[in-house]
Amino acid sequence: MPAPEFQHTVGKTASLSGTALHTGDKVTLRLHAAPVDHGIKFKRKDLQDEPTIDAKIENLKTVERATTIGEGSVRVHTVEHILSALSAMGVDNAIVEMDANEPPIGDGSAQPYVDLIKKAGVTAQDEPRKFFDVREPMHVESKTGAVLVFLPDNKFRISCTQAGPNNRFTQFLSMEVTPAFFEREIAPARTFVYYEDVKPLMDKNLIRGGSLENAIVVRGDAVLSKEPLRFGDEFVRHKILDIIGDLALVGRRIRGHIVAVKPGHASNADLARLIVREQTRRSALAAPRTIPSGDGGLDADQVMQILPHRFPFLMVDRIISFETETKCIGVKTVTINEPFFQGHFPGHPVMPGVMQVEAMAQVASILLFKLSKTTSRIGYFMSADGVKFRKPVLPGDTIFVHAELTKSRGERLAKAKCHCVVNDAIVSEAELMFTFLDK
Ligand SMILES: [Zn+2]
Repeated sequence: MPAPEFQHTVGKTASLSGTALHTGDKVTLRLHAAPVDHGIKFKRKDLQDEPTIDAKIENLKTVERATTIGEGSVRVHTVEHILSALSAMGVDNAIVEMDANEPPIGDGSAQPYVDLIKKAGVTAQDEPRKFFDVREPMHVESKTGAVLVFLPDNKFRISCTQAGPNNRFTQFLSMEVTPAFFEREIAPARTFVYYEDVKPLMDKNLIRGGSLENAIVVRGDAVLSKEPLRFGDEFVRHKILDIIGDLALVGRRIRGHIVAVKPGHASNADLARLIVREQTRRSALAAPRTIPSGDGGLDADQVMQILPHRFPFLMVDRIISFETETKCIGVKTVTINEPFFQGHFPGHPVMPGVMQVEAMAQVASILLFKLSKTTSRIGYFMSADGVKFRKPVLPGDTIFVHAELTKSRGERLAKAKCHCVVNDAIVSEAELMFTFLDK
């Protein structure tokens, strides 16, 4: 069982000064550490009472050209580039304090924010990260032709196609979002705008801080910028940068493969909203039913923070109680929709015994994790002794999986005695052995 990933914040406060894009004013941004489960919050140091705004999709206000969030009458504009850098560089919790209504635009890329984060350092905290895993394909489509499809994957990947007017500047890039790749290949990609879009704004003096120093301007087939293109496909790289930033508004890390065609802030925000809606639905399903609840159980989300297993191989819905540190009971509701019933057996569905052993191993793993709490070692399932299957488990049954750690020899081996109960009868039992290896 691989150890879970932990939340991270910045090691120390670091600051960055520059020009705000829309007002042209000077702005100083300070990045501060924040406690676990805090998320990213923006703080308006220039306003009375210094209000904070959660970087959450619920607070999204506008998506024209840039992403603006707000609460009440307080706004923070152009948050997507710093959110992208924080998310991709692995910062889960931080306070972004500013003395203006938007971060310094820098060179129009996320490079200044990556530098800032590296100056502050990134440090691990002691709570597991919260993830959203895609279980079934999700998608959003907009009238402007943007399509975003989100597919199950055990990594966070983005495959993006960008296309300008009349399909000029069509570019494609597929990547896994990792800090190293982001820093090298994505963060330096600058904002680009089409001349016909910004001309009216320039005329109205709405982008006072805008210049060829912080954006690439595309006019017809010509590319205007202060320095030459940093990548031949700089535009699609910036589109990916914006997707990562806008999806940071989900408020938890996401795992899955995003296939994006002509994405923009509006469609990115639509996908973020869809993800949050699905997450809310799942949390409601995981709410306690009439099963008696013991002390300090774990809901489905918490189970998934500990176990790496996912559909169709996650065999624990939740932990209903812990009795001391070495004993607990998990629950698995068996439905006719379980994939294994398709073949085991057609017309005569019976839950395979090995899946019950797997359920026992997963519940025992949760106990081992709670006990060891280490990220440096992995537990491997070594053997199963005294395995007995006493009764068939059928669709509609709720299995109570009892696990007790009986022996841990030194630091290397652990044994667990487990049994599964349905309708107060033991349906299966086994004694499992695990070994720990350094990663
Ligand atoms: Zn952007």
